[in-house]
Amino acid sequence: MIKDNLHEINSKLPSDVTLVAVSKFHPVERLMEAYNAGQRVFAESRPQELAAKVPQMPADVQWHFIGHLQTNKLKLVLPYVSLVQSVDSLHLLQAISAWAVAHNKVIDVLLELHLGAEETKQGFTEDEILSLCHSERSEESIRIRGLMGMASHTEDRAQVEGEFARIEALYKRIKASGMEDFDTLSIGMSGDWPLAVQHGATMVRIGTDIFGPREY
Ligand SMILES: *Cc1c(COP(=O)(O)O)cnc(C)c1O
Repeated sequence: MIKDNLHEINSKLPSDVTLVAVSKFHPVERLMEAYNAGQRVFAESRPQELAAKVPQMPADVQWHFIGHLQTNKLKLVLPYVSLVQSVDSLHLLQAISAWAVAHNKVIDVLLELHLGAEETKQGFTEDEILSLCHSERSEESIRIRGLMGMASHTEDRAQVEGEFARIEALYKRIKASGMEDFDTLSIGMSGDWPLAVQHGATMVRIGTDIFGPREY
């Protein structure tokens, strides 16, 4: 049961870590089960699916976007989300900024660090993130709130731990430099979130452990 799964996770999760329910590929009825059990933060990874679900869910849901975002899909995503976790290129960052200026909004984002061993994973390098965070940016339309990372999908605990340690160190380094509003480290999914919490996660993104296997 979704309610029991949420209860189980919440009982183990430190109270200052935000639980993001990853609801991609699950029908709205399942999301409502989580909502009725008290869950308010949900994340989707496909623009169309997000835009379709938003009007079917209560207005106090906070939506995050966690998938690869093409710049021609911004209008399906940015009006609805409180956080874009998956900013993985300068091109995307600039497009979000331009949209925010045009709509007189401020958009909160996380920069995605390329973390896992898989070639296909999106994201910035550490150097790119450091230079983005330390560049003098005049525009107020984007707030870089922190970092997001996805560890390798592997049973090798030492490898995952090494990847989390790497993003944790980068996060702490930027935070120590005094960057404003930089307060979010989003690491940890169904298989590895307890390890992520040990490595300073302030936000975990959990799908399967809440909703079970994805349905379509
Ligand atoms: C799907 C997804 C998750 C959740 O994965 P689970 O293994 O189902 O918990 C977390 N983060 C991102 C970026 C995802 O795409």
